[in-house]
Amino acid sequence: MAQTATLFNQSTRFQPLAPRPGVPPTLKKVLIVGGGSAGWMSAMILGQALLGSGVEITVLESPSVGIIGVGEGSTPWLRGFFEGLGIPESEWMPPCNATYKCGITFEGWSRKPGYERYFHPFASMLDNLTMTQFVHNVHARINGADVPAHPNRFFVAARLAEQCLAPKPAYQFPFDVWYGYHFDSVLLGQFLQKKAVERGVRHLQGHVTDVQLNERGDIASVRTQEGQTIAADFFVDCTGFASLLLQKALATPFVSYAENLFNDAAIAMPSPISGEIPSQTVSYAMRHGWRWQIPLTSRYGNGYVYSTAFCSPDEAERELRETLGLLDDPTPARHLKMRIGRVTEHWRRNCLAVGLSQGFIEPLEATALLFIQRTAERFVGYVEQGRMDDSARAEFNQQVNGHFEGTRDYIVTHYKTNSRTDTEYWRANAANMHLSDDLKRLLTLWLHGRKIAPEIDKQAIGRGYPVFSWYCLLAGMGLFPEAQDLRAPTADEARFSLDEIDNLIARSALNFPKHHTLLADIPPPRTDKALQIYFW
Ligand SMILES: Cc1cc2nc3c(=O)[nH]c(=O)nc-3n(C[C@H](O)[C@H](O)[C@H](O)COP(=O)(O)OP(=O)(O)OC[C@H]3O[C@@H](n4cnc5c(N)ncnc54)[C@H](O)[C@@H]3O)c2cc1C
Repeated sequence: MAQTATLFNQSTRFQPLAPRPGVPPTLKKVLIVGGGSAGWMSAMILGQALLGSGVEITVLESPSVGIIGVGEGSTPWLRGFFEGLGIPESEWMPPCNATYKCGITFEGWSRKPGYERYFHPFASMLDNLTMTQFVHNVHARINGADVPAHPNRFFVAARLAEQCLAPKPAYQFPFDVWYGYHFDSVLLGQFLQKKAVERGVRHLQGHVTDVQLNERGDIASVRTQEGQTIAADFFVDCTGFASLLLQKALATPFVSYAENLFNDAAIAMPSPISGEIPSQTVSYAMRHGWRWQIPLTSRYGNGYVYSTAFCSPDEAERELRETLGLLDDPTPARHLKMRIGRVTEHWRRNCLAVGLSQGFIEPLEATALLFIQRTAERFVGYVEQGRMDDSARAEFNQQVNGHFEGTRDYIVTHYKTNSRTDTEYWRANAANMHLSDDLKRLLTLWLHGRKIAPEIDKQAIGRGYPVFSWYCLLAGMGLFPEAQDLRAPTADEARFSLDEIDNLIARSALNFPKHHTLLADIPPPRTDKALQIYFW
């Protein structure tokens, strides 16, 4: 193994509110405009770091503009968010109708026999025991050997998801498994709002109509329809796609990813849930995009993400309803427009954009809440060091942009490597040559059977997803020589027994409870020392 790295950021442990010596004395008032997930997550993260230093934090939200009301799946990093704030799962999950997420199944993205579906697992300590074998077999297969290399065979999370098991093992089992969550986004917003207010964040209602700049060009205050003028030293723009402060008032340019990623619209609608509650998101390929299916304790959240260049909203709604068996159902469908790309500077002057106001790389792989968390946490890191100058901003923006580009390339790869030919949408995606140089290099290495890990470590591409995920994606899509071109493996190529791996995974899975059983009685956080998760 070339390298290991911890997946869980152990540094985000809850720290009781206390003065942070580095906070600049000029920072007295922070105004967060917007009360969606971005607004309240930012309020919690900034609140934990700054309230103890006497900084006043206010969230201002419009009484007339609602939140986007989607965004119900997370990456494992959300666990770090709640643990960092000292909020146990047993406190936040039940009121948010939340469930556990072992990863995502991609269904129908590839038409290669044997690769019609694959699972993108969240890493587990156990995966350290099978990663070498997986990577060995992948390279053997790329080089023409007929050995099994489908990721689902190698990772315990795939087995858990397949059997509706929860990714939390029994206490006596020492291996930790990394997992994400599904939740009701409206309820999560309400929960975070209540917690933030309890911890001392102020909450105001008001619809911003005007943003005033001072003589230096910084934001001085916002004015609302209700007649308030609210001044602050620092502003956080969480106004969603409107981006009233950073993009409108400060005229920060936007870099569109429309050439890389074609989807620009979505339709969301719920459907009933019954029986066992799955512990995974499923992402089904559709005629002109893909649809998510997210299980909550109360319902499924469904959504069709598509491109209006290839299909009309009515056609998309019909296709979604047909697939869900809800063609004549009165449940309304919500149509949403998406702007795909990012701003050039996420922190400009005295304004930080967090959430959809800073950019969005479409919902595939559910990355947006992680951007919110990382942006706010990274910003806090600078403030705590007393660094709020031009050099801090430049460094910060470069880091956030790197995260955006790396993640974009990972998402683009799903479309580029699809092997569907049934519609113009999929053919155009496979033919799309708007790929970053990093991504072109990476795909070339893979197709030549070379190791991709050193390249991912070296490139900005690694700032999005780890090597582990890249292997799962490329192998899961079946990016191998055609079956008829494979040859019998050499003894070295065939040196790992899949039976042993199957056995190991089957035995490990016995330590995990049924998902619905665990949801009925979520245990308190572990205090024993679970082994750290490493991924390669
Ligand atoms: C189709 C779709 C699916 C998605 N799925 C996922 C997913 O699975 N996982 C994931 O992590 N993310 C997902 N996302 C992204 C996720 O929904 C957002 O990142 C998240 O909800 C944060 O949104 P926000 O708070 O930035 O914006 P919003 O929720 O739109 O909130 C904007 C806030 O600004 C306020 N506001 C607007 N105008 C004014 C004004 N004039 N004055 C005062 N206040 C104002 C509004 O009142 C509101 O409170 C998805 C997004 C889309 C579009």
